[in-house]
Amino acid sequence: MRFHSLQIGTKLTAWYMLFMLIGFAAGGCLAFLNMRNSIHSTVDGQLRERLSVVRETVNRRLRTAQVKELGEELDEDSELRPESDLLQISDQEGRWIYQSRTIKPFQLSARPAKTPTSEARTEVVKDTPIRLIAETVSLNGEVYYIQIAARMDGFYGALTRFRGRLLVLLPLILVVATAGGYWTSRRALSPVDAISLAAQKINPRNLSSRIAVPHTGDELQRLSETLNAMLGRVDAAMQKITQFTADASHELRTPITIMRTRAELALRRLRTEREYRETIEQLHAELVRTSQLVDNLMLLARADAGAELIQLEELDLVDLLRRVVSRAAPLAEERGVSLRANLPERNAVWIEGDSQLLGRLFLQLIDNAVKYTPASGYVSIEVADMDKTTRVAVVDTGIGIAETDLPHIFDRFYRADKTRSRESGGAGIGLSIGRWIAEAHLGSLNVESRSGVGSTFFVILPKKLVRASPGAMTLKA
Ligand code: ADP
Repeated sequence: MRFHSLQIGTKLTAWYMLFMLIGFAAGGCLAFLNMRNSIHSTVDGQLRERLSVVRETVNRRLRTAQVKELGEELDEDSELRPESDLLQISDQEGRWIYQSRTIKPFQLSARPAKTPTSEARTEVVKDTPIRLIAETVSLNGEVYYIQIAARMDGFYGALTRFRGRLLVLLPLILVVATAGGYWTSRRALSPVDAISLAAQKINPRNLSSRIAVPHTGDELQRLSETLNAMLGRVDAAMQKITQFTADASHELRTPITIMRTRAELALRRLRTEREYRETIEQLHAELVRTSQLVDNLMLLARADAGAELIQLEELDLVDLLRRVVSRAAPLAEERGVSLRANLPERNAVWIEGDSQLLGRLFLQLIDNAVKYTPASGYVSIEVADMDKTTRVAVVDTGIGIAETDLPHIFDRFYRADKTRSRESGGAGIGLSIGRWIAEAHLGSLNVESRSGVGSTFFVILPKKLVRASPGAMTLKA
């Protein structure tokens, strides 16, 4: 099994154990060395203190050749510290001047092996470790060697016991701490298992269910909240798609039923040529409406998928509006509604946008205004050219929109007056497409209306756009 395929808890524990092992090994070595050094420095300090006393005695006694008195004086002192007072003094020829009782069994050479340096060193003599300082004293033209030492077996024994305990205790602590670390990490990560279990249970049919959020204020709480927020978005998108599919099929069913009934009626018996022509004309009109509806539905679906790419170009808004008004004029005339375009006569208003989509948006607004305005009413189009934006208003003196309908008229498939709207061929998606077009141009589409008085639809468009990426636009500074 590879390391990276292990569970997080196991991986964390392995790292934890490795670092603890390194820490314990380093800590153990440091503690051992520290203890040894402090033993050495204590022993060396005591040896040096003693050495200075001995040196003073040697100087005092040997200056006057009192070798015997020197021995007695040193013996007296040595009795006080028989364990640590290993002392011997010899002369240049290797003759003994003094040997303490305790140093004799070691049979140290009368001449120090190394040139005396006053440096303390450890030597093992007859299986016993000793700490030794050797020093030379010159007196009356003679050279004397003083060697002073202390037995270290007691100290080293304690050190060895300390090391033995470390070697047993540290692995034990390591095992206990590793087990504790593993348990802690499993415990800390157990909500992750709960989260993934809950996430596994979520499928397209129960997208409204959510993951339980642990109120721990940590990463796991944030993770579950983020997942829930994502689920919320997926759920909303899914509901939108389901609703769209249901609404779209519902809208398509009505014209198809009408066409089917008309065709079946016509086929029931032999008809005259005029009757056939009439039926075909009716079918044709219904087909035109249906294909417009399918067109709109496809536009909405592509817009939802983010696939409707805008073809940006420099265009004269006034010219565009003029063309749209002339397309809507026959309908207005047919309905007895007067259509006025208050456009600047000579001035062009240059903006960046998709002429096809913007044409579709304005035609929709003018078409609606004409459709929902009774005969002898009027519809006018106004353009306000501002510094960085332009505002187009489509004003009518029509039936207006009730306050309760106002918040919904930009919703898909929403019709304020169902029967009337259907009669005039509307499926309730014109305004939602219109708003999408305005927003895709980083602009807006809004309405002010009073029931029975009339409505004004405002389109505000920025003049300069920059395409940041396909489908995404930013405003030009
Ligand atoms: P439709 O295709 O049904 O006209 P729209 O999306 O274009 O759908 O409009 C949605 C609803 O908003 C319409 O059913 C209608 O009730 C209302 N509406 C739109 N424009 C006007 C207007 N100028 N005057 C009054 N009501 C309007």
